[in-house]
Amino acid sequence: MDVDQQRRVARNEVRFRELNEMMKEAVDGIRGADDDRSFEILCECALEDCMEMVEVLPGQYEAVRATPTRFIVMAQHIQPEVERVVEEHGKYWVVEKNGVGADVARQRS
Ligand SMILES: [Zn+2]
Repeated sequence: MDVDQQRRVARNEVRFRELNEMMKEAVDGIRGADDDRSFEILCECALEDCMEMVEVLPGQYEAVRATPTRFIVMAQHIQPEVERVVEEHGKYWVVEKNGVGADVARQRS
C-alpha cells in the first residue's frame, strides 16, 4: 500500500470515527451519559463499503477514543499492513494506526 492509499484509508476510518462520536452523543442524549449498557457503533475499519455494526460498552468506547490513533474494528477487518492490534475483545478488536495513517488520525481528532 503506498502513502496516498494509506492516507485515504485513514481518512475513511476518521470519517467513521466522527459518525460514531455522533452516535455516542445520541445514545447519551437518550439514555443519559452515565448509562453503562452496551450500544452499537459502525466498524471503523479501512474497507470503504463496510457497514457492519459492532457492540461496545461505553467505558470501552471512551478508552479507545482517549487515543486518537486507535480504532474499533471487527476482527476479520484488520489491515495488518497499516495498523497493529492492541486489544482483542471477542467480536471487535482495537487497532492502532501506524505510519502516515497515524498522522492523519491525529490531525483529524
Ligand atoms: Zn469493517
